[in-house]
Amino acid sequence: MIDRHLQVGAGPDAPKLLMRELELQDRFQFECRLECMGMCCNSVRIVLDPWDVEVLARHLNLGGKDFLDRYCTLEFASQSHWPIVWLAQAANGPCEFLDSQNKCQVYPARPTICRTYPLGRAVRIEADGHAVEKVFLVEKAAFCLGSRTERVRTVESWLENEGVRERAPLCNLYLKLIYYAETKLRSPAWMSKPVANMLNPLLFAPEMLRAKLEIGEEVDYVEFYRRRLKAAKLLLTDLAAGFGFGPLAESTAENVLKESLMERIRYVLLTGEQPEV
Ligand code: SF4
Ligand code: SF4
Repeated sequence: MIDRHLQVGAGPDAPKLLMRELELQDRFQFECRLECMGMCCNSVRIVLDPWDVEVLARHLNLGGKDFLDRYCTLEFASQSHWPIVWLAQAANGPCEFLDSQNKCQVYPARPTICRTYPLGRAVRIEADGHAVEKVFLVEKAAFCLGSRTERVRTVESWLENEGVRERAPLCNLYLKLIYYAETKLRSPAWMSKPVANMLNPLLFAPEMLRAKLEIGEEVDYVEFYRRRLKAAKLLLTDLAAGFGFGPLAESTAENVLKESLMERIRYVLLTGEQPEV
């Protein structure tokens, strides 16, 4: 095992934790145990990305909006200037999905962060859009007895078996959208809660978009998720231009967009292609 550490923690006031960085072939001992089953779901705050919301809502046979209303808290993070979705109850008590037997009621659809523990993933998006992943061992809480086992895994096998590998490309699409907004559109300079709210249907409520545009299940939910994030990129680019930032802020009278924003968003959602402007 290599002896490198990652500093984890976002924002100037966030606590900085030093965690041991691991390589994919590094081994660690871990297996969940009955004695502490569910204790990890009592005290953590679970942040959800749009793919987590998609998978959980579908598992519960709910639309994304209903899922958010029933099970989540939506906040506007004043430091990152970005909307954040928290799983309800996880801040002050047991997670909403922990049952009386201390088992996860949504285990097949559990969020990425629940799958990854006791590992953590930090993803950095490079200027060329490439995602660089770092994996680290999370500081174990005293109640967690998972390392008291002879069972040894590699980092790679853990991520594969828990379904993190399969989800990562879709989760990374969202990180790329945030990276684009922050670096190309300077979103922290102009994003506010009312502006962020305009993104919510695209990020979290596919059923509303499908109903409005009469898009059926012939466009599967993975493809529709990709289209939604493309449309969110369009919306963000237009919004940024209104504040004087991003590529469209430099539009001149000659290259002004021919189609309205709503028409371009509609086109992306219907076809998956970027509209010609
Ligand atoms: S979603 Fe499931 S695994 Fe994750 S915190 Fe809640 S009960 Fe625990
Ligand atoms: S071993 Fe740790 S992660 Fe597993 S159930 Fe117990 S407290 Fe939760």
